[in-house]
Amino acid sequence: MSARPAADEAPIAIIGSGVSGLAAARELMHLGFDATVYESSNQIGGMADTQRDPDGFIFDTGAHFITNRFATAIGIAPLCRTVHRYGETVWSDGRAYDYPFGLMRNPRYLRGAINARIRSKRSVETAADQFRSEYGSEIADEVALPLLEQWSGLPADRLSPAVADKLPGGILATLALKLSARATNRAVAIGYCREAPQSANVWHVYPENGIATICAALTTELGDAVQTGNPVERVLTTDGRAVGVVVNGREIPAAAVISTLPVPHLAALTDEESLQPFRELRYRAMVFVNIMLRGCDVMPDTLTWTPGVEFPCFRISETTRSMPWLAPTGSTIITADFGATVGDSTWTEDDQVLEEMVLKALCAIVPSARRDFLGSRVLRSAFAYPIFDLAYEETRLALGRGTGIERLLSVGRNGEFAHILMEDSYWRTLRQVRALAAQLNESVQN
Ligand SMILES: Cc1cc2nc3c(=O)[nH]c(=O)nc-3n(C[C@H](O)[C@H](O)[C@H](O)COP(=O)(O)OP(=O)(O)OC[C@H]3O[C@@H](n4cnc5c(N)ncnc54)[C@H](O)[C@@H]3O)c2cc1C
Repeated sequence: MSARPAADEAPIAIIGSGVSGLAAARELMHLGFDATVYESSNQIGGMADTQRDPDGFIFDTGAHFITNRFATAIGIAPLCRTVHRYGETVWSDGRAYDYPFGLMRNPRYLRGAINARIRSKRSVETAADQFRSEYGSEIADEVALPLLEQWSGLPADRLSPAVADKLPGGILATLALKLSARATNRAVAIGYCREAPQSANVWHVYPENGIATICAALTTELGDAVQTGNPVERVLTTDGRAVGVVVNGREIPAAAVISTLPVPHLAALTDEESLQPFRELRYRAMVFVNIMLRGCDVMPDTLTWTPGVEFPCFRISETTRSMPWLAPTGSTIITADFGATVGDSTWTEDDQVLEEMVLKALCAIVPSARRDFLGSRVLRSAFAYPIFDLAYEETRLALGRGTGIERLLSVGRNGEFAHILMEDSYWRTLRQVRALAAQLNESVQN
């Protein structure tokens, strides 16, 4: 990839070839800069990865959804199909409640939510306070907080209220979008993206061949600028400015460095004092147990939240309710999400034991699960979700102000340590890359 010389002579070094790293590289190329993407693994894509089973089942590492707007921005709209339906339910007391409004059919939950609205607001210091004041103690204590604790691995009174940061739109906006989804027979995206507005014109689509299509498309223009099997070993800095990287023991000068690594890993690659506090930030790992079954539309909806103690996982999805082409005709994929810490008993559990745990719990919702069982596939992700532990809240907030190193960006979901999906990462990364490009151009002119 080469165009006019970058502001400095050397190319910009990008660490990681997931969605964010590739989007950064493509944008820099469009802006006329040289960049090299270094990827430690032998394949591109990072967390946006798709696995295929010989029988025709397609699995992402955890259920993924995107929008028509994002697909168009990447250039993969023609490779995607429209998603016609998407819904979420909560399984509680042996029945499914539509999420979010269906929960209000339970009179106790409704009373609690009304009381929370009319009660004078108390100060909110933790995620537990936030959920109780927002939804009432009944929904918080019986539904939201058990889910939050399984998901994050910490008690809700040790988590920042920022985990409950509201997505755009209130009740009326959500209702209006749900109605437009019905009218258009498209799964209008609700609460999916913060960086761009939601509207009836933004709906879910999904690539015919799985989520890996995104990075495959992003990389087409980049050619040999993407170097797989080349881990970055160090980030070089001089006088508080990023000046290069070390790859395979070789020092490579860079006009700037853009990292998509989990931010503690980036900190570990430098000696810069200002980055060292970020080493304490932690991520929650996930184990995804994919169960293949005969039949289709066996779950109450696409996503089912399972706060009850009888469930070893906190969420069960049937992605084929929304994207039926992910399984051969007449069959389906159920994915159970388990929160874990790398190395703990869930993370190291035998795949067959996990499969049996899921089948046992699943029978409460899908009584025929054992009879219709076709097989399973367990996938693991070590850096699935940032943990907003109050113990390091100041450090988390400090990262929002940047890395503190000139010409060193930390972007993407794990680089920003943020609960954001790919479309948000994409727009945010473009914004940061454009600002960096402007800065580099300016330094050439001065
Ligand atoms: C369960 C789950 C569900 C999700 N659902 C959705 C969804 O529905 N919709 C959505 O839009 N998003 C979803 N996401 C988020 C989405 O997967 C991520 O935001 C996105 O894939 C992250 O891309 P990234 O480029 O920021 O980071 P990554 O994909 O993590 O890329 C980082 C890359 O850096 C590489 N690397 C690591 N160390 C080095 C090194 N030393 N040198 C060079 N390279 C290195 C890694 O191998 C990796 O390829 C979900 C995530 C999870 C966990």
